[in-house]
Amino acid sequence: MHKRHEQEAAVRRDEHGRAHLRLIRDPETGAAQLTLTAAVFKEKWQNELVTVAANAAWSTLRDELDLPPAVELARSAMHLASEMSEQFLDKLPAGTVACKSGCAHCCHQPVGITAIEAIAIVDRLRQTLSETELSRVAERVAEAREKARGASTAERFSAEQPCPFLEAGQCSIYDVRPLVCRGMNSRDAEACARIVSDPAARDEFLANPATGHAFAVPVRVSLSLSVGLQLGLFELYGLDMRPLDLIAAIHLLLTRGPPLESEWLLGEAPFESARASEGGIDARTRVLMGGAGS
Ligand code: SF4
Repeated sequence: MHKRHEQEAAVRRDEHGRAHLRLIRDPETGAAQLTLTAAVFKEKWQNELVTVAANAAWSTLRDELDLPPAVELARSAMHLASEMSEQFLDKLPAGTVACKSGCAHCCHQPVGITAIEAIAIVDRLRQTLSETELSRVAERVAEAREKARGASTAERFSAEQPCPFLEAGQCSIYDVRPLVCRGMNSRDAEACARIVSDPAARDEFLANPATGHAFAVPVRVSLSLSVGLQLGLFELYGLDMRPLDLIAAIHLLLTRGPPLESEWLLGEAPFESARASEGGIDARTRVLMGGAGS
């Protein structure tokens, strides 16, 4: 049996000096793959999903670090998240899942996203909308950005603050909606409605999100894939993958245009002003993701 060659894959380390990815190469075949230096999640299957996404990032971009393959990578992760969530939800007894067409309570809250997802969304908008339609979307996003500016996380759980992509109760970017949105599947639509309409229910949920009504598995699928993309793109390519606010990130992309994407691809931090706030969506998802390791 040949000894595997191991080497750190990281070109970047986190603020604690840690690298999470390691490259393992078979000396005989030359085949190489990324593994984790230590578990990120308690659940083994979640760590496996992290490495699936990190390896996809590596194999997709190692020959060409450019926007088209990066967008393709984001879409693949989105597709896989939906596919795995649907497989889980399809096995539940009929009537267990409360979500249905036109129900959009969960689209009235801050949404976390990564730069690569935001870029994939705007790429789709530019590909499919006319100039007039794109201007209308940009106006709606700008209005939502103004409403959200200075509002607390709690205040953004509000019927007055719908996601700008919500149109007549439907997601207008369904095919490229963020990973987080794909993870949100509820067992209780009335509880979702209360969180948006009743400040006491909202505060209780924000104080203890684990008591929420979303199925944990789809949330964990989406988060594991997101973490894999974050680690792969940051550690291998030095790309800024810190969590962003959906509305703020899309607003930046639509107002600044393609130069912003190029800066991001060069390893700069053009999304700084769109960073998701501490105590917002990230605090809630940290609980739902099943206890991340150190
Ligand atoms: S992107 Fe779509 S699914 Fe996500 S919050 Fe907005 S409207 Fe809802």
